[in-house]
Amino acid sequence: MARRPRELDEDDVRSRANPRGTRPRSKQRPAHEDAVDAFVVAVDRGRYLVLAGDTEVTAMRARELGRKSIVVGDRVGVVGTIDDSPDALVRIVRLDERDTVLRRTADDNDEHERVIVANADQLVIVSALADPEPSFGLIDRCLVAALAAGIEPVLCLTKSDLASPQLVTERYAALDLPAVTTHRGGSLDALRDLLIGHVSVLVGHSGVGKSTLINALVPSADRATGVVSAIGKGRHTSSSAVALRLPDDAGWVIDTPGVRSFGLAHVGPDDLLWAFPDLEDGANLCLPGCEHLSTEVGCRLDAWVADGHSTPERLAAFRQLLVSR
Ligand code: ZN
Repeated sequence: MARRPRELDEDDVRSRANPRGTRPRSKQRPAHEDAVDAFVVAVDRGRYLVLAGDTEVTAMRARELGRKSIVVGDRVGVVGTIDDSPDALVRIVRLDERDTVLRRTADDNDEHERVIVANADQLVIVSALADPEPSFGLIDRCLVAALAAGIEPVLCLTKSDLASPQLVTERYAALDLPAVTTHRGGSLDALRDLLIGHVSVLVGHSGVGKSTLINALVPSADRATGVVSAIGKGRHTSSSAVALRLPDDAGWVIDTPGVRSFGLAHVGPDDLLWAFPDLEDGANLCLPGCEHLSTEVGCRLDAWVADGHSTPERLAAFRQLLVSR
């Protein structure tokens, strides 16, 4: 595994700006009582784009924060000159406690789950109804990740002009999820209503129309992505999350390009059942310690499904998550 580069801090900037080190450095730092509240909208290689009031500035982490990671959605305190000048030195001196965290899955490039979004309160699972077919495996994973994190899941089913949403909504009927459908050229009002006042993370496979949705919801999204590229002074890493403010300050949507799914390694087997309420009572009939993997080890879930409380597809999906998380 490649070593991650050390995160830059304020000293890196100062040494470049002042190569001879002639400016004396104060050993006493202020206590930062004057820190201004800010919201992290993007992160790129140790630089943070933060919104303080109505001003977007690039900030560095203060050394005293240590190795704590700062991610999109974090609420922080910053000190420095909050203006648009390119030489402004703004430092993040405080990281507020998080209400929720979402971790992305480990993958070929990174064997660890990492927190990528903080403080989201809604997860919008974007799935096409056709072309591509709905991925129930992805939807299930996202549901578990959201419920385990205390985040409200929402289904956004795109391309409703190509197929009926009935198959999907019936499959998840036991969860009583809010669900909206969209199609190209159709109204997004139902989705907009669901987003008002929330910090919503959007996740979905490529080809489901997530980018189209985001561009329609946030007409300035392209511009905002340009700002993100600028702070990295180079190629924007496509896997990072970006927070975009909805028009009229109606809320935030967080895009997660390149994030295939959210990690479940921290979620225990019993907690997976949060996404399978139709199986939960059946699992309670199993012997303590049942791993629910097959009827041969005494799992009662097959009998539960045979009695009509759920479907073989749902049980197979639950077992698939059990072995793959
Ligand atoms: Zn069992």
